[in-house]
Amino acid sequence: MTKPLAALTDIVRAQEALRESEGRLRAILNAAIDAIIIIDEHGAIETFNPAAEKMFGYVAREIVGENIKQLMPAPYRDEHDHYLRHYLATGERKIIGIGREVVGQRKDSTTFPMELTVSEVKLGQKRWFTGIIRDISERKREKNRYLQKTSEMQAIFEAFPDLFFRLDSDGTILDYHSGQMSRLQFPMEKLIGKKLPDIFPPKAGQQYQKAITHVVQTGTPIGIESHVELDQRGIIFEARLVPYLKKQVIVIVRDITERKQAEESLHNSELRYQALAELLPVGIFRCDATGRFIYTNERWLEITNLTPDKALGHGWLTSIHPDDRSRISELWSKSILNRLAFKAEFRFRHEDGIVAWVFGQAVVECDSSGEVTGYIGTITDITDRIKADEALRKAHLELEMRVEERTADLRATNRWLRQMVTERKQAENALREERNFISAILETAGALVVVYDASGNIIRFNRGCQETTGYTFEEVKDSQPWTRLVLPEETAEVRAVFDELARGALRNEHEHHWRRRDGENRLVAWSNTVIRDENNAVKYIISTGIDITDRRKAEEESRQHQAELVHVSRLSTMGEMATGLAHELNQPLAAIVSYTQGCVRRISAGNNNPRELLDAMQQVTKQAQRAGEIIRRMRNFVSKGETQRVSVHVNDILREVLGIAKFEIRKQNVHLRAQLAEQLPPVQVDLIQVEQVLLNLVRNAVEAMNSVDQNARELTFETSLTSDGMVEVAIRDSGEGLPMENPDKVFDPFFTTKSTGMGMGLAISKSLIEAHGGRLWATRNPSRGTTFHFTLPT
Ligand code: ADP
Repeated sequence: MTKPLAALTDIVRAQEALRESEGRLRAILNAAIDAIIIIDEHGAIETFNPAAEKMFGYVAREIVGENIKQLMPAPYRDEHDHYLRHYLATGERKIIGIGREVVGQRKDSTTFPMELTVSEVKLGQKRWFTGIIRDISERKREKNRYLQKTSEMQAIFEAFPDLFFRLDSDGTILDYHSGQMSRLQFPMEKLIGKKLPDIFPPKAGQQYQKAITHVVQTGTPIGIESHVELDQRGIIFEARLVPYLKKQVIVIVRDITERKQAEESLHNSELRYQALAELLPVGIFRCDATGRFIYTNERWLEITNLTPDKALGHGWLTSIHPDDRSRISELWSKSILNRLAFKAEFRFRHEDGIVAWVFGQAVVECDSSGEVTGYIGTITDITDRIKADEALRKAHLELEMRVEERTADLRATNRWLRQMVTERKQAENALREERNFISAILETAGALVVVYDASGNIIRFNRGCQETTGYTFEEVKDSQPWTRLVLPEETAEVRAVFDELARGALRNEHEHHWRRRDGENRLVAWSNTVIRDENNAVKYIISTGIDITDRRKAEEESRQHQAELVHVSRLSTMGEMATGLAHELNQPLAAIVSYTQGCVRRISAGNNNPRELLDAMQQVTKQAQRAGEIIRRMRNFVSKGETQRVSVHVNDILREVLGIAKFEIRKQNVHLRAQLAEQLPPVQVDLIQVEQVLLNLVRNAVEAMNSVDQNARELTFETSLTSDGMVEVAIRDSGEGLPMENPDKVFDPFFTTKSTGMGMGLAISKSLIEAHGGRLWATRNPSRGTTFHFTLPT
């Protein structure tokens, strides 16, 4: 009995033990955090613990008996089947494993990552599989987040310009991030495990070592700056060392070479700018954005006479002249407030009271972002300019006053001129009247003047005639001279002369006697001219005579005085001729005047009929030609007139002429010089005529110097022998010179620039010299004045 009992006992014990272990298993399954699923070898679920219920959303009774594939998303189901079948067939345990990552599917069809550990339970031929499942969604998410953060950090590090090192307490490099510094082409990977101070040159290395020690010992950060030569280029690193974790150090290194260089060049340019500012001749200042002065150059201080401490800040405003102060303060504040440029002219008053005018201007200074950083400006000392302006204004005023005065003067002068014109007109009227009395004047002339008509009847018999003959005009009027006056024995000759004259041929000079009423004979030297009518027929004959009886007598009485007598006679003849000429010319000139006046009148009255004007002008031409003809005849008379040639030395003639003219020369303060050639051959000349020429040239020269300064009046005589054997005389003056245009016209008859001139002197002189076989001409002096030259044959 013992044996079956014992066996029963064993069975009971075994059953109890089984129950117990089952209970323990259930407790484990219930308490497990991980989902535990047990399936049979066909995949049917036998056990599904509470954690699995929670994980998959099924209650155990719903899922027990179902295939495990229901807990997998579609793509995994076939794979699972395949592995399970493969294992059952071959025993190859691919399906068994620890911690495989697979995907689960919940009751609501959502999926999640899980870690699956599968083990096998074998009992005889039967097999079960236990799956312990852990939901790893959370862990995955964490891991992803971590990975993302890390790559973010990596990206940040890459983008950072700095180089990071993580060091342990003795400076060994644990880790690094090269960031942008990778362009330094450091072989970074090789640095790990090395000591940071060792990778720098010794000097910089020591700096780093010290800094690391500092951070490790004090636990406080520190910054250093080190210069390193790299690739033949100086690089400046700025490093910051900060404590990290326990006894570790993070080092952030940055390349600040460019920033340093920029700073340095900024500093240099600042220095250069200041040096320049000190050199410039203008006052320069700078101020901050609130208008406070922060810099002025030396010149600024000079102009304002301020010391630097007074100049800076707002002190300068108090030195502005009281009259300008409020205006400038206001303008300045306004410019600062509105960020506008400043520009003004104003005064500074120095402590010693001196006032300096300045032109000041300032412009806004901005930094690269356009933010206003301050003002920079200049002041220029414009005191001199202001003074000059004032002087100019004054001068201008004075000028205006003077112009006004002058205008008044001119007005007065104008009035005076108008009056002069009136007077002149009156004078002209008087002159016209006077012309009518020329005959009356003739009466008073000393010479004998007789006017005959074309048939030789006396129609004028002046006082000279009456006095010389003792006959009255009435007695001789309309009678011919030979009835009473001419001696019977001379009548034929006289008549012949008259016939010639009546024909128009001039016999200018002749001498014959007139018998006085009392029977005395008077020898008269005559010169004649004729006056023609419009048809050029002789109308009047004018004879001008000089009673030369006494002179002749004297000549005869004294042979020695003979020459002198001739001289006198010829001089007078010239004088008479001039008288006659004046008379003769009067006629055409009067006609010219009346024709031209007629023209003037017509033109002023607006009559522009060219026919009428042309007629008048033709008449003028005709009359002028007549006047010319008269002159021509007179020249003929002068040159063809009988002359007495004597042999004389030109130098002697000159001395004689200077004797005559010396009074005039001295009176005019003319300085005389002579360059006379000695041993000149004598010339054959009519002494009177050559003297006449010389006298005329000397007088002209003296008159030409009237207008020049007294100290500059110089008259030079030169005589010389020309290459063709003539004697040349030159008379050089320092006078006003010949007319600029056509200087040769001075030799034209009637050309004169003098109010009282006749314009005949040079014309006659030229004829006289040419009659001698010589030449007379004028040249301009190189400096000033004129030289008249004439030559005479020897
Ligand atoms: P008149 O002396 O009466 O004017 P002239 O025939 O002697 O007549 O001179 C004519 C003009 O020639 C003068 O009015 C003058 O303008 C000019 N003339 C003559 N001699 C000189 C001279 N030496 N210098 C400048 N001009 C002269």
